[in-house]
Amino acid sequence: MHYPPSNVKAWYKKVEYMFGIVGVPIIEVAMAAQAAGIKYIGMRNEQAACYAASAIGYLTGRPGACLVVSGPGLIHALGGMANSNMNCWPVVVIGGSSDRSQETTGAFQEFPQVEACRLYSKFSARPSNLDAIPAVIEKAVRTSMYGRPGACYVDIAGDMVNAKVDRRKVRFVHCCPPLPICLADHNAVTEAITVLKSAKRPLVIIGKGAAYGRAEAALRDFVELSHLPFLPTPMGKGVLPDDHSNCVAAARSRALLKTDVVLLLGARLNWILHFGLPPRFDPEVKIIQVDICPEEMGNNVKPAVALLGDINAVVCQLRDFLLKDGWRYPSDTEWWSTLKEKMDSNAKISNALALQSVLPMNYYTVFHHISRLLPHDCIIVSEGANTMDIGRTMLNNYLPRHRLDAGTFGTMGVGPGFAIAAAVVERNKNKGQRVVCVEGDSAFGFSGMEVETMCRYSLPIIVIVVNNNGIYSGVDPETWKEMAKMGDLTSIAPPVTLLPEARYDQVMAAFGGHGFLVRTVEELCNALQLSLNDWERPSLLNVLIDPSSDRKQQEFPWLTRSNL
Ligand code: ADP
Ligand code: MG
Repeated sequence: MHYPPSNVKAWYKKVEYMFGIVGVPIIEVAMAAQAAGIKYIGMRNEQAACYAASAIGYLTGRPGACLVVSGPGLIHALGGMANSNMNCWPVVVIGGSSDRSQETTGAFQEFPQVEACRLYSKFSARPSNLDAIPAVIEKAVRTSMYGRPGACYVDIAGDMVNAKVDRRKVRFVHCCPPLPICLADHNAVTEAITVLKSAKRPLVIIGKGAAYGRAEAALRDFVELSHLPFLPTPMGKGVLPDDHSNCVAAARSRALLKTDVVLLLGARLNWILHFGLPPRFDPEVKIIQVDICPEEMGNNVKPAVALLGDINAVVCQLRDFLLKDGWRYPSDTEWWSTLKEKMDSNAKISNALALQSVLPMNYYTVFHHISRLLPHDCIIVSEGANTMDIGRTMLNNYLPRHRLDAGTFGTMGVGPGFAIAAAVVERNKNKGQRVVCVEGDSAFGFSGMEVETMCRYSLPIIVIVVNNNGIYSGVDPETWKEMAKMGDLTSIAPPVTLLPEARYDQVMAAFGGHGFLVRTVEELCNALQLSLNDWERPSLLNVLIDPSSDRKQQEFPWLTRSNL
């Protein structure tokens, strides 16, 4: 491959990170990537590698690359591709595959990789020959970012890796520019403002599309000019700070149920937003939908107004309209009083649970103290069932793209990969921010071996395992022993149980990180403080909580059908 004579650095500055696991036939690809200035992070499972690469896309707006070997390596990465595609995050997966001359012969790890990736990506291809590689890679990178972002796959046959190429024959391809910005139709903007003005109970919903689209500055202006209440989705948290006076997250269910006009900014009306339908929404609710993807318009609810365009550009259009027009939603409405009352009463219930001083601790106590000690600029990665749901309400975000979680696909096992990606990005900044990974014990198990990766690269990630001995709930050690006496545990142990008081902290300690076993508030605060003071090594706090600790009574359960 030949490079342009000048400005070489600018050419390949763009994809900065590659995650993967090497083996035949792609070891040399990783080495070549490093030689070309790309940072290569070796992971322990392709799934986690792909989660990490996809988080790079979300955090930086440029895709991360994920490099995997043929057959099983690629198949492990499919989970990460699916997760990335579902979340609308750009990622480029590069898979080695068996030699072209051995196709259909039962070659080592032979698998129809390009076909397999189609279901999990926007684009999946194998360059027809060596000369075509730059153009196909450019197309993959561009496709991953343009339009609705997503996953792309490029297949590299083993025999291509060490083959020689005539440099003069390679067609040089320039790095693609950031995506062209599109604005909403002017008439649609006017119509949207008219609908907003007619609302009695308006609500702005901020999704992770607004976070990805870097709409935070315009959105702050818009919300403050219009004085509209807003509600973030789980990863929309932090686009505007959770403690902003217009944030009504603490009255989420009430706000969704009673609103008559929603301005939907970069969020889909899928399960996360209860499909925009009754019983969680008013059947007459009007939706002003802002999205970059035309096919999204009208999914589940026909929008009153559809604003097709880049979210930051569209929010600027709305803001500019208000700047001229001067309209503002009044602050003395019944709607604002209803929302404020509900927020106050919900806060009282959570505070009462948080201040319970019983042992073992409950979720609310644990999160109350974590939230007190965490710096406001930290990146919070979270997964699990109760751990993620309760943590979402108790741990505030103050900055955009500072919360990553199980997301649209509800994927467990994403946490360590996301945290590693965030930590490598932060380390390359002047003054990096702290990455905290709050995991349920079950969620942690899916990618737990990535603590070795954290230790190997000295990434000062703080992993907090909120350990209730199981999936949703577990049993205490005594009950477990009694059960074991009663017979074969494979026949009698509830399928939700995991080993009580498992020593996840020792896993981290085994690789040289800090491991803390935590039972009390005092131990929790001390361990967290010690971890926050160390910028060289990762820590794992294994926080043992009451195995039957649960969420406070919900007006509507969040997602579990079994709770209905
Ligand atoms: P959440 O999980 O927060 O509800 P979703 O992932 O469901 O959010 O929705 C994000 C939406 O944002 C997707 O429909 C996607 O097409 C859209 N989106 C992504 N980037 C942009 C952008 N730059 N401008 C407008 N919409 C965007
Ligand atoms: Mg658990």
